[in-house]
Amino acid sequence: MDGEAPRIAVIGAGISGLTCATEIAKLGCGVSVLDKARGPGGRMSTRRVPDLGVGADFDHGAQYFTVRSPELSSRVEQWSSEGVVAPWHGRIVALGPDGVEESSGITRRVVGTPGMNAICQRLAAGLDTRLGVQVSSIESDGDAWTVLDRAGDNVGTFEKVICTAPAPQTEKLLRGIAPELADRAAAVQMQPCWSVLLAFDAPIPVDFDGAFVNHGPLSWVARTSAKPARQTPPDRWVLHAGPSWSEAHLEDDAEPVVEALVAAFFDALDARPSQPAWCKGHRWRFALAQNPLADGCFYDRRLGIGACGDWANGNRVEGAFLSGLRLAQEIERALDR
Ligand SMILES: Cc1cc2nc3c(=O)[nH]c(=O)nc-3n(C[C@H](O)[C@H](O)[C@H](O)COP(=O)(O)OP(=O)(O)OC[C@H]3O[C@@H](n4cnc5c(N)ncnc54)[C@H](O)[C@@H]3O)c2cc1C
Repeated sequence: MDGEAPRIAVIGAGISGLTCATEIAKLGCGVSVLDKARGPGGRMSTRRVPDLGVGADFDHGAQYFTVRSPELSSRVEQWSSEGVVAPWHGRIVALGPDGVEESSGITRRVVGTPGMNAICQRLAAGLDTRLGVQVSSIESDGDAWTVLDRAGDNVGTFEKVICTAPAPQTEKLLRGIAPELADRAAAVQMQPCWSVLLAFDAPIPVDFDGAFVNHGPLSWVARTSAKPARQTPPDRWVLHAGPSWSEAHLEDDAEPVVEALVAAFFDALDARPSQPAWCKGHRWRFALAQNPLADGCFYDRRLGIGACGDWANGNRVEGAFLSGLRLAQEIERALDR
């Protein structure tokens, strides 16, 4: 690298941002990761509920991830040796109108341990990660960028800024400073997902751990307390509504949504309803890209502005991880010039 190492802001402490930040920090750049949330993880976050007891957590976003690329495979080996991931060998079925069917196909499923956010927590701990910082604008400061938070306060000045927020939020942040990148993000529609977290005093009497639901409002249900390193009581379930139902009920209050989805849960199981001891609804406004791009990532060398995330690279955790990795490689190539 010629000259002084640049300061780089990475907006977003999800898997894409933290992967990118980890790699560019290795090049000697001064990297700051900024996230509006209270903890790292983004859509791989884990919900703690201390009232339910120690370790009674819920993976309310990503449920597991699949591993196809050699890059993620070798990273999973490393994370596995550090105890932050484990394979999930749970029985996964499909629930259709005619009952339970075995789920077909591969699949090697990996989960973070003790929660999906473990990988991001691990990565964030090795970086200058600033939480509770909502970036609201990025302004040109001659040959650098000034990042401002929601209150209009200066978060810092950086030579390069990387945005890893979901596509609509990336579009908003980059519109005034990198319109071509904003246009790429604007091309991606993201679907919402209503998620419901449930705890039961008496375990739900089914012999599977997760199910794709092929009828009614739900698309997925899982016994989150059956995943590795989470096997503490109470019996805990996560329900995800499908995209059309979530879209139709996007602005509804959480209470009727929870009620409707709990009814749909027992309906899908064809079981007698029981009252949850605890429940909570969570709306993911931007859950999955409906039409993700296959570009890998975006980087404008002249501006020093980049973007990555699942929406830029085929969706899901693996797509987001690879997108972050590709962007770090682009930045490395640009620094070598
Ligand atoms: C309900 C649900 C179920 C899913 N299930 C699966 C699954 O089973 N398997 C799978 O592989 N994938 C699944 N996914 C998708 C997977 O979670 C995502 O593809 C992946 O986590 C995206 O990572 P990312 O880094 O691109 O984005 P994110 O994880 O969204 O990270 C972006 C970060 O940017 C932050 N941010 C946004 N705007 C700002 C701002 N203005 N200032 C500061 N910070 C900001 C956010 O707080 C967030 O932390 C699921 C997602 C959801 C929501």
